[in-house]
Amino acid sequence: MHRMRPETLAVHAAREPDPHTGAVTPPLIMSTTFARNEGYKPIGASVYGRSENPNRIALEAQLAALEGGALALAFSSGMAAINAMYQSLSPGAHVIIPSDSYMGTRMLFDAHYERMGISVSKVRAGDMQALADAMRTETALVWVETPSNPELSITDIAQAVKLAQAVGATCVVDSTFATPFCQRPLEFGADVVMHSTTKFFGGHSDVTGGALIFATNGPLYERLRSIQLLAGAVPSPFDCWLLQRSIPSMPWRMRGHVDNAGKVAQFLAGHKAVARVNYPGLPTHPGHALATRQMCAFGGMLSFEPKGGFEAAQRVACGVRLFTRATSLGGYESLIEHRAAIEGAASTAPPALLRLSIGLEHADDLIADLDAVLTL
Ligand SMILES: *Cc1c(COP(=O)(O)O)cnc(C)c1O
Repeated sequence: MHRMRPETLAVHAAREPDPHTGAVTPPLIMSTTFARNEGYKPIGASVYGRSENPNRIALEAQLAALEGGALALAFSSGMAAINAMYQSLSPGAHVIIPSDSYMGTRMLFDAHYERMGISVSKVRAGDMQALADAMRTETALVWVETPSNPELSITDIAQAVKLAQAVGATCVVDSTFATPFCQRPLEFGADVVMHSTTKFFGGHSDVTGGALIFATNGPLYERLRSIQLLAGAVPSPFDCWLLQRSIPSMPWRMRGHVDNAGKVAQFLAGHKAVARVNYPGLPTHPGHALATRQMCAFGGMLSFEPKGGFEAAQRVACGVRLFTRATSLGGYESLIEHRAAIEGAASTAPPALLRLSIGLEHADDLIADLDAVLTL
């Protein structure tokens, strides 16, 4: 059959009118328990709310279809998905995590897994020589985050996979910044794609969730499914329903995010009050050539450093009117975040770094807002 394009999959994958009512929009099924027939067989595909639910089953099928994976598992947050991956490790294992990864990815490991006899090496995202040097025979997990948060570094997924495979390690890609509409890590050999569905998948800043999507239906999936089922960090039916609601519009939302981010990045790159812009779509970005090969679009996230250090960044963050000062990303509204101000002394972010989640307003208005505070 003709292979459906992403826009079509987003609308039609795991989505049919409800056979009982004809409802075109999926019904929200809050029931925690599901009846059996006279032969004591479950009537539908669900038995108990923690183990499965019709909304979660449909969401997981949508996620697998969009990433081109065999199967997906939905969790109650992105961190719950990361935690499930860590829980799949055994004592004595070694893990490699980017030193500039999403902060929670590192903090969770340091706080709760090192004391369980699992060791970690932290390697700067995109530094393939350092990654190769950090590999050990007992390396079980290679964690890739590309583009990385908050500096938008690009890691060569195919090369990371090759290094992981050489020692039998699993390669997981946190593709939250990219979404399957800008990057498809499974096509480069990754074993698992991880998403914080709180971000672009939700798209409306109103649902917290996470996901793991698996290249194959095998022992790794089985182990993670067991952790999802028994540890129980599952999303509510309503959380799943909100994501089911958001996914059909996602390819077109992403086009808007990408289009606007490209324009804002170009504007910032040409502004005399700006010292540095991190956006993989800019030819000056060190990962641009790689991103051009590995991504089909450059995403809706960027960061930049105004000239004048921490104080200048505070002035910009406090002076903008359209950008909302808030953490998180991926919603229709543009957000600005001064990482160093939030993370405090432990921050690995440059002091002047401002992270922008570019929303769906008109690019000219976003640019005018930034221009007004930069050109004071
Ligand atoms: C937000 C985020 C996470 C964590 O997801 P939560 O839904 O907040 O638990 C992990 N990785 C990246 C890149 C993120 O942006």
